[in-house]
Amino acid sequence: MRLIAHAKVNWALSVLGRRDDGYHELDMLMQSVELGDSLEIRLAEELTLTLHGGPRVPSGDGNLVLRAARRLREAAGVAQGARITMKKRIPVGAGLGGGSADAAAILLGLNALWNLHMGWQDLRALARSLGSDIPFCMVGGLRRVRGTGEQLEALPCGAPFHLVIVQPCAGLSTPKVFAAYDALAVRPRNPDIEAAVAALAQGDPAALAQAMGNALTPASVPIRPQIAMAAQTLEHFGALRAEMTGSGSAVVGLFANAQDADFAWRQCIALWPKSYLTRTTCLLYTSDAA
Ligand code: ATP
Repeated sequence: MRLIAHAKVNWALSVLGRRDDGYHELDMLMQSVELGDSLEIRLAEELTLTLHGGPRVPSGDGNLVLRAARRLREAAGVAQGARITMKKRIPVGAGLGGGSADAAAILLGLNALWNLHMGWQDLRALARSLGSDIPFCMVGGLRRVRGTGEQLEALPCGAPFHLVIVQPCAGLSTPKVFAAYDALAVRPRNPDIEAAVAALAQGDPAALAQAMGNALTPASVPIRPQIAMAAQTLEHFGALRAEMTGSGSAVVGLFANAQDADFAWRQCIALWPKSYLTRTTCLLYTSDAA
């Protein structure tokens, strides 16, 4: 079985507050993109992972793919194995949900390959216990995501948007960025999510460029100033707008058309090897799943 684990971008990320348990209450607009890791899964006696690419990704027990597979096996009470081969393309610690996408793909893939027939509710509970972006990655498409990632609302998803994604520096740890957010003297402004929803529904990149925004950017930029420089550079090369995704450190440039995106990507790749030309994608899996 071969699967693509698609990365996600955040069109909008608002922080609504900090809960008593330390988690932050979020309101986000997330969409899957074509950029993804490829996974090949074959039935085997043992559970093993062979990793290609992703130099900073743990290949052993720390990998989310193996953690997800083990948790699924325990939850289903089975002892099957699988030989998993993964080609890592999504940059790491980028806010593109790479590890979450891999874990989501493995949960769905092994549920089918091992004939577990585990239902969506149980799979989603398992996904949630492994990481807050995994429930979104299990369904993908365009969704408003609230709470700590568990409340998913499917939105109509039209023609693809053309993107250049750049990771101009080392990755960022999500907990470190939230700690920096909590320490900010002034609460950053949240983006206008309703305006972004309307722009997405109209498939209007210019209106989306006006509405997109990320409340975590003022927390991440002091740690990795290259994020601000990459956003400026993408806009200089023709992006309608460039904004950090998730907690960074990748920046997403939104373009009016494929030609503009291609031109900017050619300039960016000369500056930053981790520059990707990609497009948004709609449904990965069935919409009634969420
Ligand atoms: P998110 O947007 O969901 O917060 P991210 O894109 O910022 O995630 P990831 O690339 O998923 O971050 O990596 C976060 C950490 O998880 C890294 O330190 C990495 O070593 C570890 N990790 C474990 N398994 C994986 C995997 N399969 N792919 C990527 N990173 C993994």
